[in-house]
Amino acid sequence: MLALRNIHKKFGELEVLKGVDIAVEKGDIVVILGPSGSGKTTLLRCINFLERADEGSLHFDEIQTDFSKASKKDINAVRKKSAFVFQNYGLFDNKTVLDNVTEGLIVGRKIPKKEAIEAAIRALEKVGLSDRLAYYPSQLSGGQQQRVGIARALAVNPDVILFDEPTSALDPELVGEVLHVIRKLAEEGTTMVIVTHEMTFAKEVANRVIFMDQGVIVEEGAPEAIFGNPKEARTRGFLQRIL
Ligand code: ATP
Repeated sequence: MLALRNIHKKFGELEVLKGVDIAVEKGDIVVILGPSGSGKTTLLRCINFLERADEGSLHFDEIQTDFSKASKKDINAVRKKSAFVFQNYGLFDNKTVLDNVTEGLIVGRKIPKKEAIEAAIRALEKVGLSDRLAYYPSQLSGGQQQRVGIARALAVNPDVILFDEPTSALDPELVGEVLHVIRKLAEEGTTMVIVTHEMTFAKEVANRVIFMDQGVIVEEGAPEAIFGNPKEARTRGFLQRIL
């Protein structure tokens, strides 16, 4: 469904991605792990052009392009098929919960307002927030704000949802409610790529785990293999430090 090949990305002199390949099939739940600064977020952002990779190719169903040559049309097509959940929720503070979720549907996808509202309410029901439609983000807990972020992603009915450390900005007691929502999506077969430091969760939901370090994929496999019997010393070292 989705494949990125030989992705390179530099910020100034710093080469953050040094030839990364990643493939995602429909129904996959791919978890990306790795030390801070290893390039996980950058890789995720390259998938839907929040960052433009310097080199490499992208194949997403009927869309096929080199990053260096991607047209506005390619970028819009990829963005239509994917949704991003940000670490810091990325909500508009001056908009209500409902408006935060309908915004992308009405402005981005030109869906009529009535339909957008219906889709938004369905998505907010899924994350357990249909009783908070008229609230503003500042009136919600961090966990609730992130659930709005997830509802916003769900409302556009994407082929893949990209989660960038969805719980790392949360107080520990609020992490569970967000992971619960993501687990439910996993049970429903939602295709997801998730950057996270939540190892227990990663073990439970992933069908594939990618371990990155210093801009390359060091090791990739089923969670049982990566957590139970990692082959590479760098993976073992990382897991020993954090488990
Ligand atoms: P973390 O787990 O801490 O979020 P990460 O593995 O997701 O780390 P990235 O956020 O992809 O790592 O960052 C990789 C490197 O690229 C870091 O050294 C970071 O400082 C740098 N970097 C990321 N974005 C930018 C940017 N927009 N401009 C300059 N440098 C950047």
